[in-house]
Amino acid sequence: MKRKIIELGQECYWNGNVVQYFAKEDNEYTATVSIQENYSVTLKLDTQGKIVWGECDCSCTDRPYCKHVQAVFCAVRGAS
Ligand SMILES: [Zn+2]
Repeated sequence: MKRKIIELGQECYWNGNVVQYFAKEDNEYTATVSIQENYSVTLKLDTQGKIVWGECDCSCTDRPYCKHVQAVFCAVRGAS
């Protein structure tokens, strides 16, 4: 996980780009991140609250996940 992604994701969160998210079963979340376009993000956390996997329909090639997933993670965790 590159530090840059973490910072970019936090920025998205702080900027209010995570417009909504829903908790599903098994620590899974679906969210919409809006930055010029809307991106659909699915995020799964483990019981420790760490990211198991994240998916996003953007065209980023960042692995293991992009800033949109990180932004949703911040929102879910209520990071400030
Ligand atoms: Zn993305």
